[in-house]
Amino acid sequence: MNKTFYLETFGCQMNVVDSERIVDLLDGIGYRQVEQAQQAQLLLLNTCAVRDKAVRKAYGHLGRFKPLKDADPSLIIGLGGCVAQQEGEQLLKEFPYLDLVFGTHNVHRLPELVDAIEVRRGKAAAIDFLDRETRLQLFPNRIGSEAVSRFVTVMQGCDNFCSFCVVPIVRGREISRPSAEVLAEVRDLAAQGVREITLIGQNVNSYGVGVSGETDFAGLLRQVAAVDGIARIRFTTSHPKDLSEELIACFGDIDKLCKHLHLPVQSGNDAILGEMNRGYDRQHYLGLVAKLKQACPEIRLTTDIIVGFPGETGADFSDTMTLLEEVRYAEIYSFLFSPRRGTRAAELADDTPAAVKQERFDRMLVLQNEISKQSWARDVGQLREVLVEGESRQGRGQLFGRTTWNRIVNFSGPPELVGKLVPVRVTKSYRNSQLGELV
Ligand code: SF4
Repeated sequence: MNKTFYLETFGCQMNVVDSERIVDLLDGIGYRQVEQAQQAQLLLLNTCAVRDKAVRKAYGHLGRFKPLKDADPSLIIGLGGCVAQQEGEQLLKEFPYLDLVFGTHNVHRLPELVDAIEVRRGKAAAIDFLDRETRLQLFPNRIGSEAVSRFVTVMQGCDNFCSFCVVPIVRGREISRPSAEVLAEVRDLAAQGVREITLIGQNVNSYGVGVSGETDFAGLLRQVAAVDGIARIRFTTSHPKDLSEELIACFGDIDKLCKHLHLPVQSGNDAILGEMNRGYDRQHYLGLVAKLKQACPEIRLTTDIIVGFPGETGADFSDTMTLLEEVRYAEIYSFLFSPRRGTRAAELADDTPAAVKQERFDRMLVLQNEISKQSWARDVGQLREVLVEGESRQGRGQLFGRTTWNRIVNFSGPPELVGKLVPVRVTKSYRNSQLGELV
């Protein structure tokens, strides 16, 4: 029982959940997780392919493992996740010190693959997509948790094929987990003291579509809300075209549902939205925002924006700027367009100079920083309910938790408050967190 592994995770919540599974699976074959790569016999990266920067980062981290392998050839080095799915076995040739490649549908095979390498000292790759029935058997189900807040996977994959996105290629088609299983996991987590559940999926609000006899996402949300012990519910990521009236209504009448929604818009311009294959236009999106604010006046929204999509003109970009002013998101997650191999947008002509894109991007951040600052400043002096998640890194006696808007608040208090909802008066607002006093 003294084998050790080191794991680094990149990318979205789906990878976070896959990594939790990796930890459980490796624990089952006698591997203990360590914090330093230098202490491990098995080194793993769980990668993200959504942007070129993320891929380069993964390769950069892989390169750091090479000297360790040179010093100790018995080390096993593995790469999983979306880069593994997209690049496959050729990674083993490209990086001769790499022993193992495992794709997004093959996390469950990790013990068997590691075992085979340990015995044969060869290399291994598993990147096949699995059929629907097998995938249904393999939804991650976390057994045991000491955390206050947990992700629960309700669906995987995506059928939308937004023209810029590699997810349908590396994660496969949409599949919804049976609601009975979701509820069983939530009940189990609640019994272990978990207070907040975030239901996750690439396109979470299309949950249940096309599955006969299954509830839709709004129905699932109401069932999860009925589980005793769960104090808060969140969900991500939502697609605007699948945001139903029923789901909007949930923000008005489910007390446990946090008053925050991440609703990726990507662009404020109709022509660009069309080229992106998003399935909605600006007017429809703004209509959803109005309905959400009507159902829940306190709701705060966050979004994703892509700047510099092929063919985006200065006027197209201005539409995104005016949209930000109109919606007044609490935060945006913005990215410069990054062509991904295999996607339609990667084939589109793009004659906008990189410097022009960067200037637009910078200008947008200046605008959004001011909007975000104003949004969070509204909390200063106000009493906010905070779910305490743990003791903060700042030192002893400091706790941290989140408001309903997913904002981190640091404040002084005893550790017994971890896992509890407490009233905190916000005293200061910083760029990424807030400071408060327990009331
Ligand atoms: S909805 Fe679009 S952006 Fe989201 S995962 Fe699916 S294809 Fe990608």
